[in-house]
Amino acid sequence: MFRKIFDSLLTLAYPQACQVCENSVENFSNGVACESCWTKTNLFSGVETLCAKCGSFLQSKPADFQTFCHRCDEHFYDSASAVGIYENALAASVLYLKREPFAAKRLKKLFISRFQNSDFQDATLIVPVPLSKHRRLERGFNQAAVLAKILARQTRIKLDEQSLVRKTHTPMHRAGMDAKARAMSVVNAFEVKRPRFIESEKILLADDVFTSGATVSACAKALKESGADKVYVYTLAKTL
Ligand SMILES: [Zn+2]
Ligand SMILES: [Zn+2]
Repeated sequence: MFRKIFDSLLTLAYPQACQVCENSVENFSNGVACESCWTKTNLFSGVETLCAKCGSFLQSKPADFQTFCHRCDEHFYDSASAVGIYENALAASVLYLKREPFAAKRLKKLFISRFQNSDFQDATLIVPVPLSKHRRLERGFNQAAVLAKILARQTRIKLDEQSLVRKTHTPMHRAGMDAKARAMSVVNAFEVKRPRFIESEKILLADDVFTSGATVSACAKALKESGADKVYVYTLAKTL
């Protein structure tokens, strides 16, 4: 783990190519993307209209009423929020975080400040979306746990990496697997090992990217069945 962090710091210590446009990254704190690619990344500011439940981007103008995308109607979490759209600098940062357990300063700041402006202030416990044991050994770390720790350290909200576990090793999503098939493959993949740590808590479920929402919904289902009061989902990026 330390070796990995050290290696990624070394890589970042030298001028390197932006992983979006290949120009050089001028600023260490920008991580793997250059300033211009960060500027082109759509980060949510609070002005745009997002689905009031899952946080899907609906339009860039504000709306007068709460709006729902309805694709998330059957999801088990209470609401979800992300830093921005999965594109440019944010997408490159998510991909990097799957390879190295390291978040650049800009990414950390964005993750913390979007949380501080969210409706999730009453969260009492931070839980990362778990990887299967097999996948965690393969990768050496869980990228959701890296993010969960950043937030826990800053907010002093308790972190729980043990109570929620992924039971089965689900193979990488195959091309051609539609949203419904993906949802079916994860629906019972999670279980709560220590229900007494979950009961009555307002849980902030942290992950790197929100795609269909099937995974976080399955986590929320397990958490709610163990008595969680609320489940909020908080991710770095949200796909369109
Ligand atoms: Zn760039
Ligand atoms: Zn929605």
